Amino acid sequence: MKIVHNVPELREQVRQQKAKGKRVSFVSTMGALHTGHTSLVTKARTVSDYVVASIFLNPLHFSENEDYDTYPRTFEKDCAMLAEVGCDLVWAPSVEEMYPFGFEGQARVKLAALGAPYCGKSRPHLFEAIATVVTKEFNAVQPDVALFGEKDFQQLVVCRRMVEDLLFPIEVVAAPTVREENGLAKSSRNQYLTASEKETAAKIYQALLEAKGEVERGARDYDHLSVRFEKRLRADGFVPDYFEFANMDTLAPARTGDKRILILAAAYLNKVRLIDNVTVELT
Ligand code: AMP
Repeated sequence: MKIVHNVPELREQVRQQKAKGKRVSFVSTMGALHTGHTSLVTKARTVSDYVVASIFLNPLHFSENEDYDTYPRTFEKDCAMLAEVGCDLVWAPSVEEMYPFGFEGQARVKLAALGAPYCGKSRPHLFEAIATVVTKEFNAVQPDVALFGEKDFQQLVVCRRMVEDLLFPIEVVAAPTVREENGLAKSSRNQYLTASEKETAAKIYQALLEAKGEVERGARDYDHLSVRFEKRLRADGFVPDYFEFANMDTLAPARTGDKRILILAAAYLNKVRLIDNVTVELT
């Protein structure tokens, strides 16, 4: 596995592969990798010939009161994990490489409404930051395929839509959420939790599964369900940010006739913000 840092080196490696007719895939990460991330690389291998993964902790993702300074940085271990699952190239740019002129004047990718609800409500900077850095990464790597985890479902829908809106010649492929044995969605931020908090944290997934069961059994009063399940998270010891029902494809609030439903939740457990979701396909 090759490790490169700057864009010209990256481009040269990818150019050589494309010259051989190889299909190139790309997995964007912020490092602190776990098996959720490596599952994307494993899936990438099944849809392409050459897998590029980035490790870049994007400062634009974080507002001032968020955890940029304390976010886990485990570069050597990340590279070992990526090599083990057959990643071909790791691209780990510096902040200066990605933002040579600083952040202020940086061209940004503005989103239509998709970045505003759910996580965008409490983190209004987030999806513009994601769309901007993913655009830069797409232009640097120029992959044929990009893989995103369903764990961050809003991000997946935002990136899919951005690819369509801005005519990126890239196929977006989604990969299912990888979980701990107790159901907790794997996340780099789980490292902030104690063992007993990890047990409590799994209750978000349990609540999502219960909500899914209710919808499958015919419940359609989504506003009411949303309030009820938020209360339930509060009773379980969380400070809920949202517990919502959406149209899986458009992210609009779910309506009675919708067949493809996304149930998504975000909640704080002590200081750690956790997100998770499940999907429901009604017939
Ligand atoms: P991050 O490093 O958190 O920005 O995540 C990089 C990619 O890994 C994104 O596409 C995430 O959706 C995906 N990812 C993170 N956690 C998981 C998980 N538990 N299961 C599947 N994909 C994940």
